[in-house]
Amino acid sequence: MSKLPDAKMLARSIQYAFPSAPWMKTKPVFNPGSFCYPAKEETMAGLGMPNPHTWNPAEEDWKLPPDWEDIIYTALKDRLEKYRSLKVFMDICVRCGTCADKCHFFLGTGDPKNMPVLRAELIRSVYRRDFTTAGRLLGKIAGGRKLDAAIIKEWFYYFYQCTECRRCSLFCPYGIDTAEITMIARELLHELGLGIHWIMDPVSNCNRTGNHLGIQPHAFKEIVEFLCEDIETVTGIKIKPPFNEKGHEILFITPSGDVFAEPGIYTFMGYLMLFHEIGLDYTLSTYASEGGNFGSFTSAAMMKKLNAKMYAEAERLGVKWILGGECGHMWRVVHQYMDTMNGPTPTCMATPKSPITGTMFHNAASTKMVHITEFTADLIKHNKITLDPSRNDHLTVTFHDSCNPARGMGLLEEPRAVIKAACNNFVEMPENTIREQTFCCGGGSGLNTEEIMELRMRGGLPRGNALRYVQERRGVNTMACICAIDRATLPPLANYWAPGVTVTGTHELVANALVMRGESKRTMNLRQEDLPGVEEDE
Ligand code: SF4
Ligand code: SF4
Repeated sequence: MSKLPDAKMLARSIQYAFPSAPWMKTKPVFNPGSFCYPAKEETMAGLGMPNPHTWNPAEEDWKLPPDWEDIIYTALKDRLEKYRSLKVFMDICVRCGTCADKCHFFLGTGDPKNMPVLRAELIRSVYRRDFTTAGRLLGKIAGGRKLDAAIIKEWFYYFYQCTECRRCSLFCPYGIDTAEITMIARELLHELGLGIHWIMDPVSNCNRTGNHLGIQPHAFKEIVEFLCEDIETVTGIKIKPPFNEKGHEILFITPSGDVFAEPGIYTFMGYLMLFHEIGLDYTLSTYASEGGNFGSFTSAAMMKKLNAKMYAEAERLGVKWILGGECGHMWRVVHQYMDTMNGPTPTCMATPKSPITGTMFHNAASTKMVHITEFTADLIKHNKITLDPSRNDHLTVTFHDSCNPARGMGLLEEPRAVIKAACNNFVEMPENTIREQTFCCGGGSGLNTEEIMELRMRGGLPRGNALRYVQERRGVNTMACICAIDRATLPPLANYWAPGVTVTGTHELVANALVMRGESKRTMNLRQEDLPGVEEDE
């Protein structure tokens, strides 16, 4: 990993100057820290990915298959025929430039090819030359360019500098979704055996064990039971969650990052405490032990395959609906693709209805899956849980809208309602950095890897800048989010751009404020840190 520069130096190094050479004549330089490491040959082969091979982005020869041009053209033709949206996105851009300064990677690098319009042009120029009449006749005059190996390298470089966050699409007058273009570009690269380890390793684990971290069923159960011991230490309450049990109403699925890694584990403990307190009739599953889906960063086929376990397990256990944890891309996949991709839902499933409040979640009628913040906000609205927000009074909390729930499913009010019920001190970041306009963490879509830490910090600059703003002016010391990837990517971002700010999931805040029947007096939070002022009171 290359050395990370000081934050001020990094910010000063960004140049937005007009480029000195035409974009078609500039080529990426594969310096350490600027590109993701490749996936191992055996990982790609184990998944049945085409053309697995050993290669190194920093070397001249990427060892592409001999017929690589045919492979790309055939694959691009296939996607253009299959996805009408891709064809439309290729054709309708008027190069108005509205999207140009909306991408966090452009703002953090100053590299013109990180402007969404130019990122898309990397593939659009090839499309134009070989798939349009104007391009065939006029070539470069019509904006076309001939595919060559340098273009493949450029795709790899820049389509792994896009987190598929979709902020650009919000501002495009034509609704061009560059994230979808990035998804297709990565699919094309995968056809040549070019994948990155940080995506393909979790995909491989998920394919084998059902979760990204490769946790085996017995270990999954043991980790959860260990977390229950911690809950008992903090609350005095013993919780025994059911695993793989038939006959329950609800199946709960969350990203495995919440089971395994800090600070996600505290969010997971929060779920268990909430379910215990309301007496929810649910089961966990060691088979559907992952809500996230790195297949969505690989190909549509892989996304479908990895997602299939959710409905398969719902059917096996005979549940009525699925409650899902705090995750980002899990919900983009569920909300935008799952009902048609993995449907129809098993016949045992029905439109979700809260067993506690009676609320019907008609918005989830087709997927039969409800996001935990929708569920908890509904409990709070109907006064079904008791919260003591003063337990969080040492926190001044802001909320990072995770890109996928915010822009992918419009989940804007529910997390705020939950946080405001659990905390007395809530502060919004500036308006153009939240809700639909939220800025990415800089490490989504499989870019949460150490070797590109400088790139991640550059991409995280707009979010870090907004966080620093409320830290300095409003005393914010905690940033809540509803995404497992964010819980992994935001701590280093906060540490770099706004040191002193802690990252948390919303259900960690809820559980710390939750007044549970039979609990002992809380003197610690879920991280087993002393609650300020409590000892002195005793
Ligand atoms: S805003 Fe839309 S139409 Fe305008 S340059 Fe960007 S992608 Fe093209
Ligand atoms: S989807 Fe996000 S990361 Fe990708 S080009 Fe658009 S704004 Fe940039």
